Amino acid sequence: MSQSVKPILPGAAIGVLGSGQLGRMFAIAARQMGYRVHTFSPESDTPTGQVADTEVVASYLDLDAVRRFAQQVQVVTFEFENVPAECVETAAQLVPVRPAGSVLHITQNRLREKTFLRDNGFPTTGFAAVRAADDIASAAAKIGLPAVMKTAGSGYDGKGQAKVRALDDCTQAFQRWDNQEMIFERLVDFALEFSVIVARTLDGQLCTWGPIQNRHENHILDLSLTPAQLTSASTAEAIEMTHAVAEKLQLVGVLCIEFFYSRDGKILINELAPRPHNSGHLTIDACRTSQFEQQVRAVCGLPLGSAEFFGAAAMANLLGELWEGGEPDWAAACANPAVKLHLYGKTAARPGRKMGHLTAVANTAERAADHVLAARQRLRLTSQ
Ligand code: AMP
Repeated sequence: MSQSVKPILPGAAIGVLGSGQLGRMFAIAARQMGYRVHTFSPESDTPTGQVADTEVVASYLDLDAVRRFAQQVQVVTFEFENVPAECVETAAQLVPVRPAGSVLHITQNRLREKTFLRDNGFPTTGFAAVRAADDIASAAAKIGLPAVMKTAGSGYDGKGQAKVRALDDCTQAFQRWDNQEMIFERLVDFALEFSVIVARTLDGQLCTWGPIQNRHENHILDLSLTPAQLTSASTAEAIEMTHAVAEKLQLVGVLCIEFFYSRDGKILINELAPRPHNSGHLTIDACRTSQFEQQVRAVCGLPLGSAEFFGAAAMANLLGELWEGGEPDWAAACANPAVKLHLYGKTAARPGRKMGHLTAVANTAERAADHVLAARQRLRLTSQ
């Protein structure tokens, strides 16, 4: 369907494919602006559904249900990248889907994504495809060992990936994930990881947040802080690269680029996510316009808001393991008035599951990080 340039105004209904915390924070921003929100996923009483006007519970492959959902809304966006192509195509026959299915198609598969980046001159680590056991030896010869092997599709938070040191490890990794297509990546010796988030409108207006520095624990984001410890030249280079990727993809919506900053001062793109990102959650409390409000504006064809930061900021994730000693002591986390608590309404707290986050704004990123880490520590101490 052709993209209408007429803005979709408050009062209209926005459809969200997916129903996790990203959809929840999107829905809160959308409802604040007077939009109605319909969410679609196979689950009920979801983080998004709890705050949406309507929660549709159906399989992404139930295309009749997708059609009925799309008929009720003026635009569709997504908060979950692994929505099947058929679902997006079906919705797009009835209403604009933003970002477009073509963006989703590229970013749903790590091999397609890295090939797109390489073909357009964006720097990535060296990589090769492993589609059959026979490809392993040539991939290892081309890329070298140790390396990282990742499933090409549906991996996140370190799921579906393994560090491989010898050919035997590679064979085991390939078998462990049922011989599915994998990407074989050169191991990056990085000094730090960071992200830049960008919003782009139909008429090409661009706006970025970051760089935001990210620390991972067990491949899951643990702490984000900004400004990142990067030179002004690297900051400018990363922002310019982010604009160029958004342009090349003809993005309409929000996209996050995760970068490596190598020990020898090079910037490499690790991953694209065509939606708001965990590292951008701090924009809710730290910026004039959050990544979620910007997603609402971009997908509805409104002008973007200012991404100005009120100060340095940090965000610490709250994962399911915090619940191991019982319900965390939320009052203890809130004892510092500089700390803001966000919980996603999830009832089952499994280890590694993202249940919420804490944010603080301060004079420096380190001071903001101290606030959120100390608050999280108080939760842990009193819940055990
Ligand atoms: P990903 O799912 O690709 O974002 O990977 C999750 C995390 O694993 C990254 O944030 C890095 O900390 C680490 N990682 C992924 N790929 C590589 C690589 N090629 N070299 C070094 N570390 C990596």
